[in-house]
Amino acid sequence: MTSVDDKTTEKKARKARAKAALPGTIAADSRIDIQSEPEGHTVFTNQNPKKAPSGRRLVDLADVFGGDDLAQMPVIVRETSIGNRVRVWRAPDGSWHRRGGGVLLKMRKGTRSFVITTYKGANEKDLLNLIGVVEDVAEGKKRKHWEKVDEAWADDRTFKLVFNSRRYADPFDHADPSPRVFFCSESRCIERWHTDESTFHTLDHVEKEVGKYASYVIEVNKNALEANSSWFVDLVTTEFSEATPTQVASLVNDLQWAAEECRRANNLVEVAA
Ligand SMILES: [Zn+2]
Repeated sequence: MTSVDDKTTEKKARKARAKAALPGTIAADSRIDIQSEPEGHTVFTNQNPKKAPSGRRLVDLADVFGGDDLAQMPVIVRETSIGNRVRVWRAPDGSWHRRGGGVLLKMRKGTRSFVITTYKGANEKDLLNLIGVVEDVAEGKKRKHWEKVDEAWADDRTFKLVFNSRRYADPFDHADPSPRVFFCSESRCIERWHTDESTFHTLDHVEKEVGKYASYVIEVNKNALEANSSWFVDLVTTEFSEATPTQVASLVNDLQWAAEECRRANNLVEVAA
């Protein structure tokens, strides 16, 4: 258990490191933990490990669940609720590694599900990598390196992904262009998360290719960074030419539909306020 004093010291150390680092580098991000001293745990190797770094036996999910079951389990993404932080560290061989989150296979609301949790400071690549692992499991890969979770809340078919880190660059002289990820709390938005680079909620969208040279995307969006923003209609078309009257009618109809959705969504906000 980390004491409050330890936490304060740790926070101070993180801030000091970030301040001293070259601006723009990964190390300049005070949200992530960096361990420069070599440390040898949870590094995935191509050798065939028999045990997890915790000393527990590795479990092959295929020995516990049917392949179809694994392929059909729901996938939940969420952010840490207990303050776990992204960690970057150096292995004894000098290579750098990063852990941005974890994956549990557990019972959730009556359904066994994959639960992906991102840590504080996670970027989109951290999340996409973990989603990639779960997709691989569904396709019959990456099923061998899991371990049983022995916690009071866990049943006997609760497992966690063991090697959840990825190779990384030296954080003191590299930048990481992957945008920061944050989870969506707008109940009507169809997206599960947003990033620093895509900060719009989406209420609904339609995407159509109506002719050889005519296609469009219409979305009803709202700025996710402003508290009292209204929904608006967004039309994107790279080309809309040589359209027949029917194709034009399709665009007009969809725009009217989007305008109506938008109007109703904004009215709901007014009534609730
Ligand atoms: Zn959203």
